[in-house]
Amino acid sequence: MRTEVKSTCCYCGVGCGVLIETEDGAITGLRGDPEHPANRGRLCTKGASLHQTVDSTYRLFFPEMRARRGETGQRVSWGQALDDAAERFADTIRQHGPDSVAFYISGQLLTEDYYVFNKLAKGLIGTNNVDTNSRLCMSSAVAGYKQTLGADAPPCSYADILNAKVIFISGANPAIAHPIVFRYIEDARAANPDLKIIVADPRRTETAEIADLHLPIKPGSDIALFNGMLHVLMAEDLLDQCYIDAHTSGFAELAGIAKNYPPERVAELCGIPAEAIVQAARWFGASKASLSLYCQGLNQSVHGTHNNVGIIHLHLATGQIGKPGAGPFSLTGQPNAMGGREVGGLSNLLSAHRDLANPEHRAEVARLWGVSDVPAKPGKSAVDLFKALKSGEIKAVWIACTNPAQSLPNQAGVREALRAADYVVLQETYGNTDTAEFADLLLPASGWGEKHGTVTNSERCITRVRSAVAAPGEARHDWEVAVDFARRLGQKLGRDDVDRLFPYADPEAIFDEHRESTRGRDLDITGLSYALLETQGPQQWPFPAGASAGKVRLYEDRRFPTADGRARFIPIEHQPVAEITTPEFPISLLSGRMRDQWHGMSRTGTVPRLFNLEDEPLLAMHPCDMRHRGLASGDLARVSNGRGEMTVRVSERAGLVKGRAWMPMHWGGQFMNSPGANAVASDAIDPYSQQPELKHAAVQIAKLDLPYPLAVLRRCASQSEALALLQRARTMLSAFPYVTVGLYGRTSPLVVLRGAAGEPVADAHLLALDRLFGLDGDDGAIVYVDATRRINKKAIAQDGRLLGVRLAGETLAQAWLKQAMAEDELDASLIRFALAPTAKPPVSMVARNIVCKCADVSDDQIQKELAHGADLPQLQQTLKCGTFCGSCVPDIKRMVAAHPPNMAAAA
Ligand code: SF4
Repeated sequence: MRTEVKSTCCYCGVGCGVLIETEDGAITGLRGDPEHPANRGRLCTKGASLHQTVDSTYRLFFPEMRARRGETGQRVSWGQALDDAAERFADTIRQHGPDSVAFYISGQLLTEDYYVFNKLAKGLIGTNNVDTNSRLCMSSAVAGYKQTLGADAPPCSYADILNAKVIFISGANPAIAHPIVFRYIEDARAANPDLKIIVADPRRTETAEIADLHLPIKPGSDIALFNGMLHVLMAEDLLDQCYIDAHTSGFAELAGIAKNYPPERVAELCGIPAEAIVQAARWFGASKASLSLYCQGLNQSVHGTHNNVGIIHLHLATGQIGKPGAGPFSLTGQPNAMGGREVGGLSNLLSAHRDLANPEHRAEVARLWGVSDVPAKPGKSAVDLFKALKSGEIKAVWIACTNPAQSLPNQAGVREALRAADYVVLQETYGNTDTAEFADLLLPASGWGEKHGTVTNSERCITRVRSAVAAPGEARHDWEVAVDFARRLGQKLGRDDVDRLFPYADPEAIFDEHRESTRGRDLDITGLSYALLETQGPQQWPFPAGASAGKVRLYEDRRFPTADGRARFIPIEHQPVAEITTPEFPISLLSGRMRDQWHGMSRTGTVPRLFNLEDEPLLAMHPCDMRHRGLASGDLARVSNGRGEMTVRVSERAGLVKGRAWMPMHWGGQFMNSPGANAVASDAIDPYSQQPELKHAAVQIAKLDLPYPLAVLRRCASQSEALALLQRARTMLSAFPYVTVGLYGRTSPLVVLRGAAGEPVADAHLLALDRLFGLDGDDGAIVYVDATRRINKKAIAQDGRLLGVRLAGETLAQAWLKQAMAEDELDASLIRFALAPTAKPPVSMVARNIVCKCADVSDDQIQKELAHGADLPQLQQTLKCGTFCGSCVPDIKRMVAAHPPNMAAAA
């Protein structure tokens, strides 16, 4: 029977609602929930592909215990697994104290999961060593809000985007990372042609393309920019002095600092023209409603808290807060980083936005939980937690729903820490993440479409997440695993209160306890219940008992949750990045996101179509930096610094300033032969938020001469077959100095391996490769060997269609071959061209790239329409491209702009 179940997208913090279609207990489709306030039916490419991620090839189905790490585990029962884990944790606690164990959890857990882990660590064990990957994402936003406004509460809503007159986007690229927010920005622009959009970003991003003013500031110079804008606001009488006098404190001291940031000095510090700073400040200050949107570019910095503080200052100084279309709006990276913050899921927080450092807050939480106390000693934050694991201070770690062996900076140190740990438990949906090989115990967790609870998105909106299907095998919900473990551990520690502490029969019971902890707090949700969320849909907090609706906008009454009710200005000064470039490490390496991939690709990396934009991690460079190193697009380069190195293919990209390079953060050890961007990323942390400077590292880039290229393309009958082959192909990741593996697909899914070596690949290795990819037979094979030039190619056809190609020594045809195989275009008459030494397809074929993945529209289709004089609206009407998720609209606009006007059509 076909049904639709309301739930949410599990990717970014926009928190879009989805309707999951199921048939006979399986997920068969998905569409945006037209009733969800976050997206009103829209989805981006990633969200719209969620139903394609439910293939079970990489799932963990039952608990596995390993005698030795990295080896295949032994299947055990849940009872045996959790008893063993409880024994190991209890032993460690008895011998070394509660702070010798830790939990490292995730912004992708549901609020209820988070709550139980927090209570397990802080309430049962008595350690604050529970931190989360949200530390890498939002902790600077938390600290920034608390330092200035007094509470961790994004004051705005998505509705404010439509009411804004100026949108100041800083350190965020919503066109790529928060596409549905970007759709609102486009809507706002369409509704109000006078809307001004300012984008501050070291790179000319896809978002910057629609800006009226792009400020390509030097990495890390955000505070200088904000202080400089404040200087202009002061000089040009654009302050709201009444607001400052009545509702804030500390302005005089900050004003004294801002006086020293005239536009000329800031221009020098930021590397942009002084006039641009003046213009940005004038637009921001003179506008009736200025809204700031910001994300990791501000947060992932060694002074991320003060970056946030600096942008909030601009709002307080101009009274641009607490009114429609105005306010500082931090965009959340992960789907439930907000929910995690609400239950105190960081090592320095307690439930309901309480502070661990506050004795009254600790006493309140102890009372709520019915325990004697909550430990006062701060727990370790993410980076320090893994350093303590390495030093032996922490001996056992429980990791849930996250992949620190890819996502944390300074990977060499993190991997050493995991190796050094006495005991590692990994509670995960997938068994093939980089972290999995370090685990002693693997516990299968339910995943998207299976879970049941609540999440909170960037605009404080709580949504019910519902199970559409049952979890496969013996996989259990995260909260259930944590509760079961807590009960067993409590017994082993001789506690007689575990059943009272963890009485939950379902997530609703956990939600109800969490709800009670918020009574009287800034995020009071005592008026909410599962029943209300079911009947009335998602609701914003606060929503206290007796309220009929949540709050769309905070601070409309101009009172702030500080001791004196005033918001605070903080005296902040420009600070450099953690690593300044030097002659030895002269390039600023920036990292960021791509449109179609999510985090470490454990989910999006299973969908062939999501690789169609880029199926290889490319290092984007400025042409001068490339020329200086003798590099051309497509060459290989070694990127290195004192922490690590990686080999990547380089690509010349517009939008980068000389001296800056950029690479996506998604690729890790499952897709390339290094941990990716985090091999070289800095683990220097912000002193207030402890968030590491993931966004910037000083590196050296040198050309790498590997003259023997290699490419294997193998068409598969199904996604499952492709994923199984991809997993086998991963055994080749250490076989050559450069290797990547990945997928690709349109009509047919492909597995793609690319490599390069300094020496010709030996025949024995080629044979092994052929066997691995099922290309080792003679049946339907054509072979080309040129022994003098060390070229060896083989193609195999099956049923008149090309099944696979292995090219060694020369791989010119790989790009068009990949396209043709994915389109199933290479019939028997064309197969011989597969071994041709040409980058051009046979004349009867058209080389194409897919631009709109939702409508499956390629660049050649768009070019054809452009030749007939089509503009964007006409393209959208005829081809439907850019009309679904809209993620490709910037690309289509670029194509329209690049196309010469068709005079005939115009006439
Ligand atoms: Fe998911 Fe895209 Fe919505 Fe983010 S914007 S929640 S990734 S559908």
